[in-house]
Amino acid sequence: MEKVVILGTGPAGLTAALYTARANLEPLVIEGLEPGGQLTTTTEVENYPGFVDGIMGPDLMDVMRRQAERFGTRYRFGMVESAEFKSGAHRLILDGGEVIEAATVIIATGASAKYLGLESEKKLIGRGVTSCATCDGAFYRDQPIAVVGGGDTAMEEALFLTRFTSDITLIHRRDEFRASKIMADRVKDHDRIKILWDTVVEDVLDVEKGEVTGLKLKNVKTGEQSELAIKGLFMAIGHQPNTKPFVGQIDMDDVGYIKATNTRTNVEGVFAAGDVQDAVYRQAITAAGSGCMAALEAERYLETLGQ
Ligand code: NDP
Repeated sequence: MEKVVILGTGPAGLTAALYTARANLEPLVIEGLEPGGQLTTTTEVENYPGFVDGIMGPDLMDVMRRQAERFGTRYRFGMVESAEFKSGAHRLILDGGEVIEAATVIIATGASAKYLGLESEKKLIGRGVTSCATCDGAFYRDQPIAVVGGGDTAMEEALFLTRFTSDITLIHRRDEFRASKIMADRVKDHDRIKILWDTVVEDVLDVEKGEVTGLKLKNVKTGEQSELAIKGLFMAIGHQPNTKPFVGQIDMDDVGYIKATNTRTNVEGVFAAGDVQDAVYRQAITAAGSGCMAALEAERYLETLGQ
């Protein structure tokens, strides 16, 4: 039986791996579909402490991966299809049918930003299409940009982006926001944000090839179509935590985020770290911090088992 199995290779999973490896627990990391997590889809990361000149997202993840490997972390590719959590011997069932038993499991499978699902949008992710204003806002100084969404995230992103540019269009598919009133009012009152109500994005344009140049829009009430010239498109239509394999096995909220207190879930020996249990902060550094917490919690728990 494995002592520690970590699911996910974003900052949370790899930090948990580093700490448990240094504690001689020989963690096994299951990599999942997107090794490196969300940071591998961003370009430059300027807000991860320790890198004066910033670092490319994929490079940061590569460094973290090698750092954890140095102390004995083992990696293997695979998708966890389902789990049976039973204190003392948790079972993880992989896509090929293989079963891994573990005394502790650290779930760090992250959350995926939702996108509209347009082919053009997919092609331009990381080339003008992004889902993180905190990460990418500074690249669009004095440029025309658009934010899509009507929830608190969209409000927060649009307001944050006013630091960089005065040309922000907020596009929402209905005629009222889902966001809290206080956030919505701040956006409505802001002279740098223009709101397009009842509007959907039909296509992301890249006439210069390879970079966002504009949007094709449609007013859902009038049917009128229009184009909007922009350089950056910030998607803020929600996130989906990657917790499907654990449904019914562990406490989650209505959206599917794992409920955890100091990374401890309601199941003994199962811990959750990073975006899979955090709908609010969602930063690489907070994910890494919680990965460290989960590792220390797992270590303590194993001590109680005499391992
Ligand atoms: P939400 O689910 O609250 O909002 C998503 C928004 O995106 C909605 O306005 C929705 O439109 C729109 N949307 C969804 N799918 C599409 C689509 N396919 N096309 C166009 N528009 C779409 O997600 P958030 O990420 O905004 O918030 C998640 C949770 O986190 C909420 O509980 C929120 O309150 C909380 N949060 C709190 C913050 C804070 O307190 N500072 C900051 C950020 C988030 P529609 O309204 O029509 O459904």
